[in-house]
Amino acid sequence: MPELPEVETIVNAMKSGGRGGSPLIGLTVQDILLLWPRTLAEPEDESALKILKNQKLVEIRRRGKFIVLQFSDDVVLIHLRMSGDIRVHQISSTNSIHGIVEKHDRFVIYFKEQVAMVFQDTRKFGRIWLVKTADQITGKLGPEPFDSNLSADVFLTMLHSYHRQIKPLLMDQTFIAGLGNIYTDESLFLAGIHPRTNSNEISQGKAKALLKSIRDVLGEGIHRNGSSIDWIYRGGDFQKYFKVYQRTGDACFICGQPIQRILVGQRGTHFCPQCQPEPVYDENRKE
Ligand SMILES: [Zn+2]
Repeated sequence: MPELPEVETIVNAMKSGGRGGSPLIGLTVQDILLLWPRTLAEPEDESALKILKNQKLVEIRRRGKFIVLQFSDDVVLIHLRMSGDIRVHQISSTNSIHGIVEKHDRFVIYFKEQVAMVFQDTRKFGRIWLVKTADQITGKLGPEPFDSNLSADVFLTMLHSYHRQIKPLLMDQTFIAGLGNIYTDESLFLAGIHPRTNSNEISQGKAKALLKSIRDVLGEGIHRNGSSIDWIYRGGDFQKYFKVYQRTGDACFICGQPIQRILVGQRGTHFCPQCQPEPVYDENRKE
């Protein structure tokens, strides 16, 4: 599933026109095509999409794992979920509107400038919202990991205000936005924290290390254009630099012990038992 670095990579490509597409900012909507009605999460009535016609795309940004398309008067949010991706096409006479649509395409925006933005999604879990303000959908998200207001002290307070296992907490988008399975496993390894550690028992030093690890891992992921792994290939190669994710049985790069896979909060979790020792909790303590 695309996480923060993958979504950031896609947003950057949409803005810059990278990877063969055209830059989308400044273009004006000619028409909308909804090919799989359930892709539209909000509003219920798909005819509402017509409101986008003649609106200019003024900004593209990322918030958590959402792509936010700010038009003149309305906002479209896209969540890629398991397998969503965005393509951008130049339309020409030989490459008409119908010529660009492929089997798994769910939603297309045609711009007057002969450009099409296509949302493709093999597994159909991806969703689109048409709203007046992005906050209607993203308002409950936790802070962005790179938010300068998110200091080590603030992060420590956040961790200590919950009594939850650290891995599921980091993946909870209302706690911090953008992390999924890959980057959570990698961050916890880098910080030397066992994924089942209780969040309120993480020390000040470890909290600081964890915040730094999260930023380092995400920064590296963005630098490498994300990971190309269990979703449609976008040319990212961070998967070559994984230290624990999907390395079960391979030697830890630090200590040589085999990387283990366990379930934490129903999610496959990769860690080094030596570098990330399991905390010992009093069994009689009330959970
Ligand atoms: Zn190790």
